[in-house]
Amino acid sequence: MSLASIIGHDQTLRILRRSFAEGRIPNAYLFVGPPNLGKFTVAMEFARLIDCDDPHDLATPDLTDACGVCESCRRIDFGSHPDVLAIRPLTRIGTGAKVEVTEFEGATLTTDQVGEILGRAGMRRTRGPYKILIIARAETMNPEAANRLLKTLEEPPEGTVLVLTCSNPSALLPTIASRCQRVAFHPVPLATLEPALLDRFPDLAPDLVATVARLSSGRPGWALTLLQSPPALSVRRRLFDMLVAFPTNPLVSSLAGSEELLRLAEAWWIAINGEGAQDVLRRAGDRSRRVALADLFDLLSSALRDVLLLTVGEEDLIINRDVLLMLRNLARSTTPAKARLALSALQQVQRHIRGNANLRLASELALLQVMLVLRAAPVEA
Ligand SMILES: [Zn+2]
Repeated sequence: MSLASIIGHDQTLRILRRSFAEGRIPNAYLFVGPPNLGKFTVAMEFARLIDCDDPHDLATPDLTDACGVCESCRRIDFGSHPDVLAIRPLTRIGTGAKVEVTEFEGATLTTDQVGEILGRAGMRRTRGPYKILIIARAETMNPEAANRLLKTLEEPPEGTVLVLTCSNPSALLPTIASRCQRVAFHPVPLATLEPALLDRFPDLAPDLVATVARLSSGRPGWALTLLQSPPALSVRRRLFDMLVAFPTNPLVSSLAGSEELLRLAEAWWIAINGEGAQDVLRRAGDRSRRVALADLFDLLSSALRDVLLLTVGEEDLIINRDVLLMLRNLARSTTPAKARLALSALQQVQRHIRGNANLRLASELALLQVMLVLRAAPVEA
């Protein structure tokens, strides 16, 4: 990895590269923008640049980048760089050997985590010119931790750069925000994201890559995760196989369908979250399935939205371009009114899943409602 491998965020990278090339790196940055846009990835790559033993293109600030091969760069790859530390919000689950998970709703930065990383701020640097401390989703800090951070920001140790990422700056102490240089992140435009992904995945079907670019809503990291994971792509295909069968399956199959949906949710959780996901699934099955199921319902909703668009002749706007034939078939057997009903039924169940609804019942209800709507006698739009 390097700054050159980041998709989009050109303006942001220009600001960061120039501050490095001109030797004007502030004590603290606040990276602000919606979740999952790549703020954390950019923070890590910026750390790699400023601690690199041999950065290149120093005379051309817009191209300046880490070398990617020196000891410092490699240590960052292995997570063993003594001067580059990062913390993310966690939810602790299980007893005994505790497992910490970032993906669950309500995950927070603990006082211990913040205390530990700030404790390192005052220590001598081990190898690089800078010590870089990255605090992801800083707004999840409690007041005690925030006050400790504020003290560090008030008297910043020399050679230490703090990078806070945040998607809700109004939840952050104003005195913290005002001591950081603010850097804004925006969703990456489709016109940038799509060609970059097509370039990176020449072996995948272009329609599939174009679809994932649209599904990602400008989040390159999400798109890369999906395209790099054959198991996740296969879950999406199996999900759509279920959808195609809805208009003709007997209604009683919604029961078996909900079982299949929960199996797909588990497969999705493991495919998307990689190492350790199986263990988390075993210890916190309900919460893992809830997070994954919400993703699957998002995928189903995007397909039903496409069906709705096709019923009103707006083919240019559809997202799931790789399954156009399947969507056209569904659209032929339905009407705009029915597609709209199916979509709103799904959205309602999605809200229940984010709450506390029983997952099996909620999935069954969602499938039953969508099936009922898609097979009902034609209703005129
Ligand atoms: Zn290097």
